[in-house]
Amino acid sequence: MKSYDVAIIGSGPGGYVAAIRCSQLGMKTAIIEKYATLGGTCLNVGCIPSKALLASSHHYEEATKHFEDHGIEIPGEIRVNLEKMIGRKQSVVDQTTGGIDFLMKKNNIDVFEGLGSFKDATHIKIEGKDAQEIEAKNIIIATGSKPGNLPFIILDKERVITSTEALKLKEIPKHMIVIGGGVIGLELGQVYKRLGAEVTVIEYMDRILPTMDAGLSKELNKVFKKAKFKMMMSHKVQAVERKGDEVIVKAENKKGEIVEFKGDYCLVSVGRKPNTAGLNADAAGVKISDRGQVEVNEHLQTNVKNIYAIGDVVRGAMLAHKAEEEGVFVAETLAGQKPHINYNLIPGVVYTWPEVAAVGKTEEELKEAGVEYKAGQFPFRALGRARAGGDLDGFVKILADKKTDEVLGIHMIGARCADLIAEAVVAMEYRASAEDISRMSHAHPTYAEAMKEAALAATEDRALHV
Ligand code: FAD
Ligand code: NAD
Repeated sequence: MKSYDVAIIGSGPGGYVAAIRCSQLGMKTAIIEKYATLGGTCLNVGCIPSKALLASSHHYEEATKHFEDHGIEIPGEIRVNLEKMIGRKQSVVDQTTGGIDFLMKKNNIDVFEGLGSFKDATHIKIEGKDAQEIEAKNIIIATGSKPGNLPFIILDKERVITSTEALKLKEIPKHMIVIGGGVIGLELGQVYKRLGAEVTVIEYMDRILPTMDAGLSKELNKVFKKAKFKMMMSHKVQAVERKGDEVIVKAENKKGEIVEFKGDYCLVSVGRKPNTAGLNADAAGVKISDRGQVEVNEHLQTNVKNIYAIGDVVRGAMLAHKAEEEGVFVAETLAGQKPHINYNLIPGVVYTWPEVAAVGKTEEELKEAGVEYKAGQFPFRALGRARAGGDLDGFVKILADKKTDEVLGIHMIGARCADLIAEAVVAMEYRASAEDISRMSHAHPTYAEAMKEAALAATEDRALHV
């Protein structure tokens, strides 16, 4: 029987990053993955393929709607070849997952293909291609998550689908009904809207992206409405029925009336659930919470002292970079180091266009906590770079402590915010004040100037360009 210092179950961004860090720190490391390709949800059916389709559909929209403004004329019709677009997405996925194979080899990590389940707290049974039993002093559970569902919906995966199927459709829907105005619904809804589908977003709460700052929800809602999405807020879906090629969704509105929506596809994006299926956690005595998460303490250690858990399968944001941080954290803990994760500074990004990004506290959270704060906001349309590029929607908002001026939260929506948010994270990691940001030179003309201007507005209400 092969024996390891550490064995990791699951090869998503949590698991594979943990494996690399364990190996770097001198541990003999194994990783077990039930699928033939490494990289988990993120690389195979999540972050990477969705961003590939967002990029392709964005190019199409630019070509059909905006090239002309720039004096670029394309004689003849511009058409989408969906099969080719999906094929390109798959080749991006293949290259990326292939890169993880390379990293595993480079770091001398043994990869086992098969379903991993506990025999006891130090032994894992592998069923599948590399069937065998292995032994490990320490085990990291990194089994991720699966699409969630509502109890009354039958996911036939043809017309009533999750994100996984939405990433490989064979036709452009005529009318896609999206249940859930969260990250997946908005990103994938935008892909198919740009490609020509009618898209209706049905959201239970009174706004899209209900966990983000309300200012961001409002601005994105405005942009989506302008792009002719049907945005149905405060609608509770009650039934989904398939009749041939038609899908009928019934939802209750605020007045208690039942509203009916008819489409040819229905994307169910109501959240994801932790995945512990097949793990046989009981055999090792590992506790699973009522919500299905593996229970961990502040060291990401389960109730069994040599077993840890990270990523989507534990509490906290279901984000790839959060899983990665936790992977490194556990590896360093096992090596006797004292790592730290500042969960308040894990940024959240929605890759729609305009992009939405945030870090730290929202206005709603500060109000609820009774923190006295000041807000400085700056619109992108006042920036030369935004006008030059033609991307005018959005703003940067900086929230700072009223007395100390320390930045408590930064919320932005606009072109390139997914990358701009990194400056906000650095500033907050070093506990910058709004004045600190306002005194830093920001290259001109850039979208990043909105950070400086918002900081000026927050410091002394003295933005320069509004
Ligand atoms: P996962 O990536 O889910 O990996 C878990 C792995 O464990 C899987 O490969 C699974 O097959 C394997 N596994 C499970 N059980 C076993 C077992 N018993 N034996 C062997 N193997 C097992 N996050 C972002 O930060 N940015 C984004 O842009 C983003 N976009 C997304 C888009 C979509 C459409 C979706 C669905 C998700 C997106 N996410 C994004 C979320 C991100 O994918 C997850 O947060 C991330 O993948 C979690 O990593 P993980 O390592 O915890 O688990
Ligand atoms: P989500 O939690 O972002 O959104 C789900 C939405 O569905 C919420 O707004 C919720 O109010 C709504 N909802 C729930 N029940 C409903 C009902 N009965 N009727 C109507 N609406 C209902 O979940 P998601 O979009 O499925 O994404 C799952 C996870 O994947 C998220 O936690 C996210 O972090 C991760 N993800 C991240 C990214 C990214 O970082 N860019 C992209 C995709 C997914």
